[in-house]
Amino acid sequence: MEQPIAVTRQSFDDWMIPVYAPADFILVRGEGSQVWDQQGKSYIDFAGGIAVNALGHAHPQVLAALVEQAGKLWHLGNGYTNEPVLRLAKQLIDATFADKVFFCNSGAEANEAALKLARKHALDSGNREKNQIVAFNNAFHGRTLFTVSAGGQPKYSQDFAPLPGGITHTPFNDLAAAEQVINDHTCAVIVEPIQGEGGVVPAQPQFLQGLRELCDRHGALLIFDEVQTGVGRTGSLYAYMNYGVVPDVLTTAKALGGGFPIGAMITTDKLAKTLGVGTHGTTYGGNPLAAAVAGVVFSLINTPEVLDGVRQRLEWFIAGLTEINLQYPIFSEIRGAGLLIGCVLNPEYAGRAKQLTQLANEEGVIALIAGPDVVRFTPSLIIPEQDVKEGLARFARAVARICS
Ligand SMILES: *Cc1c(COP(=O)(O)O)cnc(C)c1O
Repeated sequence: MEQPIAVTRQSFDDWMIPVYAPADFILVRGEGSQVWDQQGKSYIDFAGGIAVNALGHAHPQVLAALVEQAGKLWHLGNGYTNEPVLRLAKQLIDATFADKVFFCNSGAEANEAALKLARKHALDSGNREKNQIVAFNNAFHGRTLFTVSAGGQPKYSQDFAPLPGGITHTPFNDLAAAEQVINDHTCAVIVEPIQGEGGVVPAQPQFLQGLRELCDRHGALLIFDEVQTGVGRTGSLYAYMNYGVVPDVLTTAKALGGGFPIGAMITTDKLAKTLGVGTHGTTYGGNPLAAAVAGVVFSLINTPEVLDGVRQRLEWFIAGLTEINLQYPIFSEIRGAGLLIGCVLNPEYAGRAKQLTQLANEEGVIALIAGPDVVRFTPSLIIPEQDVKEGLARFARAVARICS
């Protein structure tokens, strides 16, 4: 065998299209909630691949499912169905409001499918004018042209104009404002139950309830983007279950594959009929390899032990972060739900979330940001107490450095 090509962090700048600015080290291995870089330095992983590695790294049962399926069948294309995908569909249906599932490979694709379903559903009802989509400021729904246009951060979409039309943005958690823009021309309202990328901002219960009523009144579909909040992240299987508000369409990805790419759009029997044979599709969507992994991830997470454990772990985080904040008052608020935690910087430290995560890296912990002023933690849902303590001790050292 040839020697593998030697790579360093510099190789990224030399060879990669610069849409990312990754950390200045390269991670090579992970186990549970620990990862190691090329130099063998250890990090506690409080990011979980951005709310993806919900069972940590190299979970033995997930690994076994991957290896077993890898020896059988990876891919067929959608002219042929397969056993793992059908089993995964049944798991999703049994655990949620949904009757039917469409599989794809990412969150953006799941949202793309949901928005297309909404447009076609309205058209099929005979109303050509019913094509307007209502979305929210600061929302994040992915990076395809349709989903980035539905997202509420113009800096991500404006350079790619002309953008798909018929999308109106309105302030999040402002029901009166939403009432002004939702009408009989609205085909869908798309909303994250907790805005993730937008700063870890939970929807108020009355807001989601109000959107449900407005959608019912005007015959619009309510789409919950649970790409980040889904599959146990908040301590419930899906966040809609915390709110008691049931959407018409739900999108799920990130944690669904535990690190293997997969996404899904789930909906009711009635709405599923909108997307008949040939109206939508994807080459890789629902491939047996992804579905086999997701099937195991889903059944491991959808248990009282893991879901209750998420709430327990939130308490460990809150206790540790509160202690840090007593010594170094850096955060004005700790918000979110379950293991989707946002720590809002005091005005004094505004704009320095990225710097804080870089210092955290130096101290041996991986953390995320959610905008310039929020440090975000989305660790494994089964992170051991020992790792939470050690990671927070390392994080405290980073906070001490920024505060002194
Ligand atoms: C990450 C995310 C997406 C996009 O998912 P991709 O897999 O990156 O396409 C969409 N919506 C929300 C809420 C997300 O957090």
